[in-house]
Amino acid sequence: MRLSRYFLPVLKETPSEAQIVSHRYMLRAGMIKQQAAGIYSWLPMGFKVLRKLEDIVHEEQIRAGHVPMLMPTLQPADLWQESGRYDAYGPEMLRIRDRHDRDMLYGPTNEEMITDIFRSHVSSYKDLPLTLYHIQWKFRDEVRPRFGVMRGREFFMKDGYNFDLTKEDALHAYNRHLVSYLRTYERMGLQAIPMRADSGPIGGDDTHEFLVLAETGESEVFYDSAVTDIRLGARDIDYDDHAQCQSIMEEFTALYARTDETHDEGAFLKDVPLDRQRTARGIEVGQIFYFGTKYSEPMGAMVQGPDGKQVPVHMGSHGIGVSRLVGAIIEASHDDKGIIWPEGVTPFHVGIVNLKQGDAEADGACEKLYKSLEAAGLEPLYDDRDERAGGKFATMDLIGLPWRITVGPRGLKNGVVELTCRRTGESEELTPKDAVARVI
Ligand code: ATP
Ligand code: MG
Ligand code: MG
Ligand code: MG
Repeated sequence: MRLSRYFLPVLKETPSEAQIVSHRYMLRAGMIKQQAAGIYSWLPMGFKVLRKLEDIVHEEQIRAGHVPMLMPTLQPADLWQESGRYDAYGPEMLRIRDRHDRDMLYGPTNEEMITDIFRSHVSSYKDLPLTLYHIQWKFRDEVRPRFGVMRGREFFMKDGYNFDLTKEDALHAYNRHLVSYLRTYERMGLQAIPMRADSGPIGGDDTHEFLVLAETGESEVFYDSAVTDIRLGARDIDYDDHAQCQSIMEEFTALYARTDETHDEGAFLKDVPLDRQRTARGIEVGQIFYFGTKYSEPMGAMVQGPDGKQVPVHMGSHGIGVSRLVGAIIEASHDDKGIIWPEGVTPFHVGIVNLKQGDAEADGACEKLYKSLEAAGLEPLYDDRDERAGGKFATMDLIGLPWRITVGPRGLKNGVVELTCRRTGESEELTPKDAVARVI
């Protein structure tokens, strides 16, 4: 992409409404524009990052054997009357009436709708296990939308639902989700720690939230610092292997790690060695639930078991806050100049800064670099505007691409360009060819 043809409305001033760094940088880097409280347009660069996260979520869900689909944002109220949640959900639900006076709502989550789909089409245990998911916009009329996309009213969420014949199979689905989420966050360059949590309005017995530690997080968390040393890494995972998924779940959840809702001060002080007791804040980027027959019973989602008897299916639901993750990644990875994108989610891989736009030699060298980076399968962002070098550097630092290649007449005389790593700030002079080889 050439910056002269892109739409990157960078702000010089720090917007006064933004209280936390991710919100400030997302506004300043021209990633989002607020349209109403908690409702945002995703401008091209914000949209590009959002799509990258969405792609990673899809890849990891499909790898785990889960099946993608798409449900609508608007739902009829009667499904929610059946489950009893239409009244229970309260003012967070945006209720709408259509021209025929039918009660509708903008979905805050999809347990009812997916259960309806399931009961319409599945009647035998032979079709189980089944996990369906979608990535779709949700609406929750939050009392206090704030921190930009971190607590929006409209937000983008992956929600998946498992249907199993037995509790044991449903718990395997739970473990499978836990493992697939760990992989997902690690690919995004994030550490998200599973913590025992409270089930809230979804209901259920077993649940973990995934938290990214950050001072600006809205949840208070208590944990054994040794949990931060565990990584999934590049292990071979067989998602059909119940024992393997269970052992990974146990490995990641054995140590004390809880949100304030389930925190047990006595157990914390007794079980966690004093020098490893930590109290901190965290951002909830996902949650998994096992809730058994909470929806299948009232909504009649039954299958015929092997013995011919009708039984309600065991279910769970599992969510990832895709749009919140854009903010969470920035909270976890930035400095005072701007964002520092992890490689796996960066909107562009490398920025090219032309120090002397209009100089035939500099322009030619930039064009050549641009083409060879593209040929290597990378997406470069070429700042080809006729601007001061200082402004170009400030923009590149703000938008946080992992690499910057600076091209100017002086270096070109010696056959070199400058390659700068955004994370370390280190620069080196290389031939254009070596610079390309280094960033691939
Ligand atoms: P929170 O405690 O932050 O209100 P939640 O527990 O109500 O979140 P879930 O129902 O567990 O949310 O939804 C799954 C995921 O969707 C959350 O883990 C979070 O990452 C994301 N999410 C929830 N509410 C919002 C919101 N208002 N804006 C952005 N993302 C959200
Ligand atoms: Mg909430
Ligand atoms: Mg929560
Ligand atoms: Mg939650």
